[in-house]
Amino acid sequence: MMSRALLPLLLCAALSAGCGRTVDPHAAWRETVTQVSTLPALAGGHFDGMLAVSNLLAHGDHGLGTFDGLDGELVLHSGVVYRVDVAGAAHPAAPDDRVAFAQVTWFEPDELYSVMAMNQRLFRSTLDWKQPDIGRAQAIRVFGRFNFVKVRSVPKQTPPYGTLDEALKSGEQVRMLKNINGTLVGFRMPGALGGVAPPSFHLHFISADASTGGHVLDFEISAGQIEIDDTPVLHILLPTLVR
Ligand SMILES: [Zn+2]
Repeated sequence: MMSRALLPLLLCAALSAGCGRTVDPHAAWRETVTQVSTLPALAGGHFDGMLAVSNLLAHGDHGLGTFDGLDGELVLHSGVVYRVDVAGAAHPAAPDDRVAFAQVTWFEPDELYSVMAMNQRLFRSTLDWKQPDIGRAQAIRVFGRFNFVKVRSVPKQTPPYGTLDEALKSGEQVRMLKNINGTLVGFRMPGALGGVAPPSFHLHFISADASTGGHVLDFEISAGQIEIDDTPVLHILLPTLVR
């Protein structure tokens, strides 16, 4: 016969949320990069949105990507999805906006570096030296003051779609944002992945006032902090390729 003294313990185990239980059954997912579609599919012109922003947010609070028809650069920063339009204006995305490509994760930094006066080349070589590619994905966040951030965005494409290269060549808009506070949001993917994901560093930018940003082509940090989140698992939502 069960002891009366055991009953409160069993009840407590069943109501785990209120019992100070520390094991999180979803913890493994927090160390996962979820990727929507693949780079070959995007490069080949599969620009149809395949996942709603509201569903993307189930997979992380940090990330980047693009929307249906390449209609805006996606920046997911601290749990808010921004769309940076072709004119460079950033707006919160609508929950039912659809994403054609994205990479997201739950951002929990493992390493922090304070830096001053660092251009993109030095940023990359420093991280390659301090964090050699051991085959893991790394989520990256860099916030602070920038001497400049060179960004691009792409106009909305209409079907039948050409390739990503064709879309970039025909309509890419490049802007130089000078003396600006904000955050670089992105990833460094391992070479071992081959071409499944954008190789090496891929960063998007959102200004501190959330008014502008885009896909990052170049930058120079005045003073800021680099944060790295090692992420050993890649989870890919494969697109349906309609031909
Ligand atoms: Zn990008």
